[in-house]
Amino acid sequence: MSLRLGALKRAEEKISSDVLILGGGPAAFGAALYSARYRLNAVVVAESIGGQLNNAGEIENYLGFERIQASELVGRFKKHVESYGVKVLQDRVIEVKREGEGFIATTRRGTKIDAKAVIVAIGLKRRVLGVPGEREFVGRGVSYCSICDAAFFKDAEAVAVVGGGDSAMEGASLLSNFAKKVYLIHRRGEFRAQPILVEEVKSKGNVEIVLDTVVTEIMGTKSVEGIKVRNLKTGEERELRVSGVFIEIGFEPDTQFIKSLGLETDDYGFIKVHGYMETNVKGMFAAGDITDLWRGFRQVVTSVAQGAVAAHGAYRYIEGMKLKKTPGSTGQS
Ligand SMILES: Cc1cc2nc3c(=O)[nH]c(=O)nc-3n(C[C@H](O)[C@H](O)[C@H](O)COP(=O)(O)OP(=O)(O)OC[C@H]3O[C@@H](n4cnc5c(N)ncnc54)[C@H](O)[C@@H]3O)c2cc1C
Repeated sequence: MSLRLGALKRAEEKISSDVLILGGGPAAFGAALYSARYRLNAVVVAESIGGQLNNAGEIENYLGFERIQASELVGRFKKHVESYGVKVLQDRVIEVKREGEGFIATTRRGTKIDAKAVIVAIGLKRRVLGVPGEREFVGRGVSYCSICDAAFFKDAEAVAVVGGGDSAMEGASLLSNFAKKVYLIHRRGEFRAQPILVEEVKSKGNVEIVLDTVVTEIMGTKSVEGIKVRNLKTGEERELRVSGVFIEIGFEPDTQFIKSLGLETDDYGFIKVHGYMETNVKGMFAAGDITDLWRGFRQVVTSVAQGAVAAHGAYRYIEGMKLKKTPGSTGQS
């Protein structure tokens, strides 16, 4: 269901907004809904609609829905905010600069958007293995999304899933329904995924768990034919015959394009927030997985909540700006 930015046409449009929301995941939609309810003119710019949920299957822990397909949840989020007239653009913001007391953002298509406040809800970007063969075979056996690509491996003799988190577990479980054999390769001795997901993988008869092991090379001619792996404890190297490699090693922050504003991040690159999701840059707020808040517990519900709080923060900030401009006011709200 991945709705990624396709072929780009230059738009060169100019849009004015109260709040510019960067992102298309749960945090961005949470921020958009609450911004709209505060009667702020909100614009959402999302490189992909859905964010990480594009890689998820069924969601079972979002209150009010015992089970819902991630794609359906995303569709509902979007429909809900659009019912308030929020503009959702599918594009990537490539730069955000100061303009007066506010901001001006430029997108990849050339659209300029000015805003009094910005909410950064850009989530995390995929990690790559960085081994020989990985780049060459993307789309020819190398995949970063089990949910999207598992069905292509129906009746495959063997595939490998690399990783030890929730995505890797979900990927291995799903792939075990398609491929005859699944190697689940993890560089550590134990998984950091939710125990319930680990148990599910262990219950599958055709998943071989390969711990303390890294992939050192992806091999093939026209498409993937195998991988080289090395056991980190024994140093033993071996080759596994697989036609698919699913790299599910998680995500990392990428705030490079807004760093020029002096945005403060922690040692791992997560945006530091305080209070109502304020960053150290006046008028800029952050929400969701990209923040340093509640590390180790990043979920749809926490992202939506942070988005809502960020919108509240932006509202207070914009109201404060208005008061400052009112003669005789101290600007305190
Ligand atoms: C496989 C998988 C399964 C999961 N299952 C669950 C589950 O069952 N329950 C649960 O609660 N959570 C689950 N999660 C976690 C949950 O999906 C995340 O916590 C949540 O999506 C984070 O939301 P977010 O909005 O902060 O970021 P993301 O979802 O990462 O969204 C970030 C968005 O920002 C966009 N973006 C990035 N840079 C730019 C830019 N420069 N300009 C414009 N847009 C940009 C991206 O395209 C994306 O749309 C799962 C995650 C994965 C990967």
